[in-house]
Amino acid sequence: MPRSKDGRWTRNCEVCGEPFHQLRKNQRTCPLPKPCRARLPHNTGGSRAKAGLAPRACQNPGCAQMFVPVRENQIACSRTCLLACPSYIESQHRSDNRPERRRRQNQRRRLDSCDDEAARYIERHRQAGCQEPGSPSPALAACPQTEGH
Ligand SMILES: [Zn+2]
Ligand SMILES: [Zn+2]
Repeated sequence: MPRSKDGRWTRNCEVCGEPFHQLRKNQRTCPLPKPCRARLPHNTGGSRAKAGLAPRACQNPGCAQMFVPVRENQIACSRTCLLACPSYIESQHRSDNRPERRRRQNQRRRLDSCDDEAARYIERHRQAGCQEPGSPSPALAACPQTEGH
């Protein structure tokens, strides 16, 4: 909701320089119908370098080149290097259970849209920690909505 009247959200348009009330925190130009927003230089790829960040060394031991980070917490010069950074690998290990948790959330979301009694039965089963790998449940197959969402 507009919080523009308390003055905190007033700023000068980056294009025409006139003060305006921000509707959103990151708004940079006058609101429509003024054409200022369309005149902003377009953001390519959404990774505009944050000004003032000092160059740092890539933490990939096989690279170790200096690079100018885009974000404060960036530790590698590229995504490829990031995947090779020891500290990144370690952080991945710490969140090892994350894919599993995401899978469960997906499953739960599917069940929300599936009223099939069989699916609810399976969900109860799974929450109780009962896993039967290799024995596909006929009840699951009975629910047309548990797959393909
Ligand atoms: Zn303007
Ligand atoms: Zn690198």
